[in-house]
Amino acid sequence: MEEKNVNECTHDCSTCSANCPSRNKDSLLEKPNKNTEIDKIVAVVSGKGGVGKSLVTSMLATVSRRAGKEVGILDADITGPSIPKIFGCKSEIYGDGEGMLPPVTESGLKLISVNLMLEDESAPVVWRGPVIAGTVKQFWTDVSWGKLDCLYIDMPPGTGDVPLTVFQSIPVNGIIIVTSPQDLVSMIVAKAVNMAKMMNIPIIGIIENYSYFECPDCGRKHYIFGKSNLEAVAEQYDIPILARIPIDPELAKLCDTGKIESLDGKKEEYINKALDAIFE
Ligand code: ADP
Repeated sequence: MEEKNVNECTHDCSTCSANCPSRNKDSLLEKPNKNTEIDKIVAVVSGKGGVGKSLVTSMLATVSRRAGKEVGILDADITGPSIPKIFGCKSEIYGDGEGMLPPVTESGLKLISVNLMLEDESAPVVWRGPVIAGTVKQFWTDVSWGKLDCLYIDMPPGTGDVPLTVFQSIPVNGIIIVTSPQDLVSMIVAKAVNMAKMMNIPIIGIIENYSYFECPDCGRKHYIFGKSNLEAVAEQYDIPILARIPIDPELAKLCDTGKIESLDGKKEEYINKALDAIFE
């Protein structure tokens, strides 16, 4: 983004992405908790809600864990937090004097989400932007994540205040874009690519969700939303397509019942290639 006119400057770089000479990107990075040591931080983004970003984040984390990695999920989708539900996790968050301790799921994944802090998980989070952004920052600075091979961040959809805060204050190593065939794929990918460029973070690849439906009787693939132009877009921006996940009612059931960690081998295969790209 261009330099800001001095009259427009709010002197608060954390809510602005202008590329002024006075800006020192590193200075905006927040220090993690002293017990946090993370190898890789991967942000999972989408252009809008409902494309399956949380499901993809949960699948990636589950399969990474199965591959023997130490994994955490930071749920930065503060107003639409679905990670605890997908993992059937209702544990409260405790502290040990040095930081907040993330609850651990059945398979050993660490989770932090605002929904684990609310007395009633159906209570809406009606907070102003800076409060939401501050909460996400605290999930980085105040959580004692321990030693992790990978922290996945389930980002809020779009390119607003919170994604900006995440990219400026957390040292994200790579971005995964989740799209669906009925998305305006080229526009969404272009926006994500431009944001990643502005933040100087590489894009690991694109995952398409709801790509097709495989008939359980005859095995034929039906492209319910039509075939997307993802290949052309991926080629245009030179980004690999990491996975195409079908519409699968069993996946929806696993999410709704909090049993994503029981994912079977066939569903694991949907995203194995993405895992290679993340850890290669
Ligand atoms: P987002 O995080 O992008 O808002 P979610 O991951 O919460 O979206 O998914 C929205 C809903 O769609 C969830 O109920 C989820 O179970 C369902 N869903 C997502 N992907 C699939 C899929 N491939 N097949 C069936 N249901 C899916």
